[in-house]
Amino acid sequence: ATLPLMAEVEQKTKFDTNSAASLVQDLRDSFSSGKTKSYEWRVTQLKSILKLVDDREKEIVEALRKDLSKPELESFVSEISMTRSACKLALKELKKWMKPEKAKTSMTTFPSSAEIVSEPLGIVLVISAWNYPLLLSLDPVIGAIAAGNAVVLKPSEIAPATSSLLAKFLEEYVDCSVIRVVEGAAAETSALLEQKWDKIFYTGNGRVGRIVMAAAAIHLTPVILELGGKSPVVVDSDINLQVAARRIIAGKWGCNNGQACISPDYIITTKVYAPNLIDALKCELEEFFGKDPLESEDISRIVNSYHFARLMKLLDEDKVSGKIVHGGQQDEAHLKIAPTILLDVPEDSLIMNEEIFGPLLPIITVDKVEDSFHVINSRAKPLAAYLFTNSKNLKEEFVRSISAGGMLINDTILHLATSTLPFGGVGESGMGSYHGKFSFDAFSHKKAVLYRSFGGDASARYPPYTARKQRL
Ligand code: NAD
Repeated sequence: ATLPLMAEVEQKTKFDTNSAASLVQDLRDSFSSGKTKSYEWRVTQLKSILKLVDDREKEIVEALRKDLSKPELESFVSEISMTRSACKLALKELKKWMKPEKAKTSMTTFPSSAEIVSEPLGIVLVISAWNYPLLLSLDPVIGAIAAGNAVVLKPSEIAPATSSLLAKFLEEYVDCSVIRVVEGAAAETSALLEQKWDKIFYTGNGRVGRIVMAAAAIHLTPVILELGGKSPVVVDSDINLQVAARRIIAGKWGCNNGQACISPDYIITTKVYAPNLIDALKCELEEFFGKDPLESEDISRIVNSYHFARLMKLLDEDKVSGKIVHGGQQDEAHLKIAPTILLDVPEDSLIMNEEIFGPLLPIITVDKVEDSFHVINSRAKPLAAYLFTNSKNLKEEFVRSISAGGMLINDTILHLATSTLPFGGVGESGMGSYHGKFSFDAFSHKKAVLYRSFGGDASARYPPYTARKQRL
């Protein structure tokens, strides 16, 4: 009875949509004071976010348990600790990031010097998604603050406990004249989207991504769209199968029970190797989650009944019947679905044409592992692409011929936790990127500044354009 149903959540209106314009105006006025530009202000806000996460750790874990029954360790590793790391990195590097970057000049401008100055964009809107409701909210907010912007955060209504925790605490800890939280669903987000922003950072599905981009176009507002897609895993046969199976499981069922944007969506392997891979996955799944995974405390539930029904529809399609080789158990009352593996589902099935975003894992088989490249390239560009192999040639060919937001060889998910790498999609999986310095850059304008003196004033550039000048 305590589970949030889509309809109930949709009805919650916490923000008067008529006040969107005045909210943005207030922020604009505060931003104009220039206070967000100072290094000291940024550092104070970042330290406050860190303090919020430290002080409220227990409440955060509890909110994530309510929203997703997220296991405590998972909450700690993938939400709390990653938010902390993003904050600490920004604090450590901020001075360096803010420093104007010297640029080379050419003979055309001699004598001169040049630099690239990072300046805040202004007022930014961050719209986040429910699956990592803390990290996906605070991580972009950290980037926006580090870059000196005013921010409105709109957390996801599908994770209501985390949304209200952020609404309750964020403004208490930070400077709420320039950092605000607005709760709500489509109506509230639409009211916010009507306003003029200097950047919109959206995390979620591509359907709403298009709504965001269309709204932004009216004001010529740049957007970052962190979307999803079907992230493939190619499995070669010359590998350490046990390690590969464990890493696939960690990325799929160990990450929010598959409700993660870069979770393995489907596997491609050879017909000959598929039985070995399935056996290894079954064996490791049992070791991780026991004989009855529906009873396991170490696996998240499906977020709500809407998404449960969506996943069941993928599993119940006629084309897919008889293809389950492992799992398939479900408990609708508790919104639980066991890790489920399917073999050789048709390419035109729903499950192979929609992002799964849940605990179902189809395996497609090919004659030769190289044939997998064509399967991937015939589909929309994924957010992540994974390959398990020891072959140097296959690795090179994979990186060279497949376009994806990011790639990881011989593991899953971990590229997201590498702050020196940009995180973002390409094509249908999104545009723009963030994490580490890329977050700072995502919310900064790179202003080109050229300095000249009054010397070196070549007359050749001025009229009259005599024949002699044209020969120069
Ligand atoms: P969601 O339902 O939480 O929606 C995302 C945001 O869009 C929410 O804040 C919501 O209020 C808002 N929204 C919903 N409908 C709207 C509308 N009609 N108009 C305006 N705003 C609206 O999240 P979701 O979309 O179910 O999230 C899952 C998707 O997000 C998957 O595709 C997943 O791959 C992707 N995702 C991507 C990343 C990433 O970093 N690239 C991370 C997490 C999730």
